[in-house]
Amino acid sequence: HVIEQLWKTADPAIVATAGPRYFGFVVGGSLPVAVAADWLSTIWDQNAGLYVLSPAAAAAEVIAGNWLKECFGLPMEMSAGFITGGTMANFTALAAARHALLEKLGWDVEEQGLVGAPPITVVTSEESHVSIFASLQMLGLGRGRVVRVATDDQGRMRPDALKGTLEEIHTPVLVCAQAGNVNTGACDPIEAIASCVHACGGWLHVDGAFGLWAAASPRYRSLVHGVALADSVSVDCHKWLNVPYDSGVVFVRDAAAHHAAMTLNAPYYVMAPGIERDNTNWVPEASRRARGFPIYAALRSLGRNGITSLVDRCCQLARLMAAHLSADPRVQILNSVVLNQVLLRFPAPSGADTDALTAAVIRHVQGEGTCWLGGTTWQGMHAMRISVSNWSTTEKDIEMSAAAILACAKAAGDNIGSS
Ligand SMILES: *Cc1c(COP(=O)(O)O)cnc(C)c1O
Repeated sequence: HVIEQLWKTADPAIVATAGPRYFGFVVGGSLPVAVAADWLSTIWDQNAGLYVLSPAAAAAEVIAGNWLKECFGLPMEMSAGFITGGTMANFTALAAARHALLEKLGWDVEEQGLVGAPPITVVTSEESHVSIFASLQMLGLGRGRVVRVATDDQGRMRPDALKGTLEEIHTPVLVCAQAGNVNTGACDPIEAIASCVHACGGWLHVDGAFGLWAAASPRYRSLVHGVALADSVSVDCHKWLNVPYDSGVVFVRDAAAHHAAMTLNAPYYVMAPGIERDNTNWVPEASRRARGFPIYAALRSLGRNGITSLVDRCCQLARLMAAHLSADPRVQILNSVVLNQVLLRFPAPSGADTDALTAAVIRHVQGEGTCWLGGTTWQGMHAMRISVSNWSTTEKDIEMSAAAILACAKAAGDNIGSS
């Protein structure tokens, strides 16, 4: 009875983000097999904090972690933590970095805190994701103390600018790079960045929330070339792998730093000797959901080829969307469509406001209902952003959606013309 009432009450305000024509933000849907495994996790109600609380949940995380490392070409000795999402994966990685950099200066940050600690410098790009700054604010590293490096026209960090920046810094340095710009899909040149960072003994973190999935495809792998050189890497499974929320993963090369930054360090937690792994030691949480099961199920059912074709298909559909839209003179594509993101705007006739027209087209599309997409700001311009991240999107969905977007552009343009 309560469930029926909840269902009826909530339904009008439920958003079809899991559907094949939802192109807003970068969210993805859920593979049926992952939903089924997630239901099992709920029914089993396992607490995946400690090995003894659920040996199966612990094993699923070990196995899924190894498969993910293999899939991304990351070193197998990297430690892994299964966490709520990309934001907390970034947080965990940066906490490990904070530990390692301060340890080199003889400072035990977990024990002594940051008061009186020797300074370290955090470097990001102009285009780093907001979750990096949210993580820094929680870690006491200060979002306002960050040194930001210039990016190119696609939003990629410029290695020459990074090199110049690093030459001016005389403290240990933590550099945050990104695989997958949320607007353009572009990836920072990770290999070149890694060589600059490691030349000065710094820590390189790569935020690969959705872009790291490029590494799972031979066609797109070159975009994230060098990611295996990173000291820490974060990724989301609830985005492009299409598993239910909440599912992010962090990988850290210096497993001891990762452990030191996260362990609860209570003697009674040392219950299982040998290889048995307490998941809680790799994330900020104690009691936690058994996140390994849905990831295990998704990876196992897709297999290596299935993961590759999920990535390839979304990228191909993004190019198809861009091709349909750019055939119309009303459309200006703003990015080079290298991954699953298409960024565009609708130039207004002379004298009219392109930002306003673009916003009007977005509103029309959202009201029209064939598909959903959102707006963003790109290099000072208002833009429409389309993300193709859902396993169930087909060419037909793209064709229908492109036609609907163009019809809305015509309607919004006619409005401007007649006003
Ligand atoms: C989505 C995203 C995040 C944040 O991930 P959540 O899972 O929403 O916490 C971080 N970085 C990038 C590049 C993203 O796209």
